[in-house]
Amino acid sequence: MYIKKDINYLLAILTESVLKKEYPTCVPVNHGVEEENFFIEFQVDEKISSNDFNKIERLIHKVISGAQEIHCTPISHQNALTKFKDNKFLSYLVHEANQAEYYLVSVNQYETILLEPLELKKTNVIKALKLLSIGGTYWLGDAEQPTLIRLIGVGFDDKKDFDEYMLEYQERMDRDHRKIGKELDLFTFDLLAGQGLPIWLNKGTIIRKQIRNFLSELEFKYNFEDVYTPILGNIDLYKKSGHWEHYRENMFSPIKVDNEELVLRPMTCPHHILVYKRKPYSYKQLPIRLCEESMLHRYESSGGLTGLERVREMILEDTHIFCTPEQIEQEVLTCYNIIKDAHKGFGTEIFQVDLSLHDPDNKEKFHKDPKMWEVAENSLRQMLKKHNIPFVEKIGEAAFYGPKIDFQVKTSLNRIITMSTIQLDFLLPMKFELEYKDKEGEFNRPIMIHLGIIGTYERLVSIILEQTKGVLPLWLTPDQVVIIPLNNELHWEYASQIHQTFKNHMIRSQLDDRDERMNKKIREAQMSKIPYQIIIGDKEIQDHTISVREYGSEETHTYELSQFLDIILKRIADKK
Ligand code: ZN
Repeated sequence: MYIKKDINYLLAILTESVLKKEYPTCVPVNHGVEEENFFIEFQVDEKISSNDFNKIERLIHKVISGAQEIHCTPISHQNALTKFKDNKFLSYLVHEANQAEYYLVSVNQYETILLEPLELKKTNVIKALKLLSIGGTYWLGDAEQPTLIRLIGVGFDDKKDFDEYMLEYQERMDRDHRKIGKELDLFTFDLLAGQGLPIWLNKGTIIRKQIRNFLSELEFKYNFEDVYTPILGNIDLYKKSGHWEHYRENMFSPIKVDNEELVLRPMTCPHHILVYKRKPYSYKQLPIRLCEESMLHRYESSGGLTGLERVREMILEDTHIFCTPEQIEQEVLTCYNIIKDAHKGFGTEIFQVDLSLHDPDNKEKFHKDPKMWEVAENSLRQMLKKHNIPFVEKIGEAAFYGPKIDFQVKTSLNRIITMSTIQLDFLLPMKFELEYKDKEGEFNRPIMIHLGIIGTYERLVSIILEQTKGVLPLWLTPDQVVIIPLNNELHWEYASQIHQTFKNHMIRSQLDDRDERMNKKIREAQMSKIPYQIIIGDKEIQDHTISVREYGSEETHTYELSQFLDIILKRIADKK
């Protein structure tokens, strides 16, 4: 058994050697190993795509089966710089790493440099390999720098390990929301529109509308008040809130207008504070619960942008509660309940609940007020314990203004990301001098709770697509039924009446009257994962019925229309 890292390093070097021979303009720039895979980055004038993977893999296999020798010799910093002086990228990396010694690896008439020695002696230690993906990136992840091609692959010294890995990999890739989103025609990206700025297509927009409606109902049930505030904010608002100091790297640069400097807001909290601050409150009026479907802009490095999971413009269902200290426990519980209801409705599964605490040693990041942290952290911990919610404590993961409970999910790329969050905040009410009059008639500071019920719409959709593999809950799916007349001339009229009846009941129905073969229409309806396919032929017209096939089922059931309407409307109402 060889070290997995070494196998992947060797494969990275072999891939470079093969590319250099096959594509004369190829300039290797960087290579490395991350988790299971290797990556290489290079410049090349010729077009290379995943269509070339088979050919490249064949060439690598040839080198491997030739059992070629691998030479690895130490080389000094200066000699490494001299040796690779013609490759500005490699010499920059050598310069930056600033080690006394490097390792010169030569194999397949190709030479490159590694920071650590490679212990392998012959190429045939690699028993299986696969090139996984190819895409664009920037040198050093900086959009101002040259563009590069990044190729990712994986190698194994054991065929069985490889087979297991590929099974798991394929399963994860099938769940990738970027792939499913494309297949279902939900959203797209266009560099001309801007990086990380999704364009929602019709079907994706329908999903967003359902999310909005559902959350509105939930917020109504839990007595939240709807507000609407601007997507731009005066920079002084964010200086006062502390976001400019603590969150600057995630914000877009200010826009100067007349004598004002405006920023695209990264969060809604300061605006909601202004809503609270506009008038005096007595304790009897608290809690105040505000909610908003708010558009936010956050800077993400271009390397970090991932489909809908990491974007630069997003809709956050942002909600804030202002309450008295005595109400904290009840309000945190309210937050937990609304999060639970939301996850039930969307059918999403939480991987883990984190109690994110401050790090007393990190004086830079966290607001200095040990007493405040103790009270806030304890109240969240108590709530979790009291309601038997299993959780993991994470030191240093709190927001700069207070501790939080994060509801984490796992993505198809095996990343753990936050979906819902409850954050306690004693700091912002202090900074903005918020007040309420208590029982004794004294002025007191309210507590602010930031609640992200389901996070951003973008992330929510990415999670739902991955967890359901695109088979969305009936209430959320863009097309709920598709009606297919067996023969357009004979059966269109009845089919179109059924279609209209569905529409009258606000059921999202499609009438597929294209001149295509029946089997093709059914296959496409299956691929689009439409929950119900309704077939109309002579028999249905004669009996005044419809034949219904549910997604994923081979069976067809015959219903009277009213019977089926009861079933589908109940399912939609119950979010089943
Ligand atoms: Zn907030």
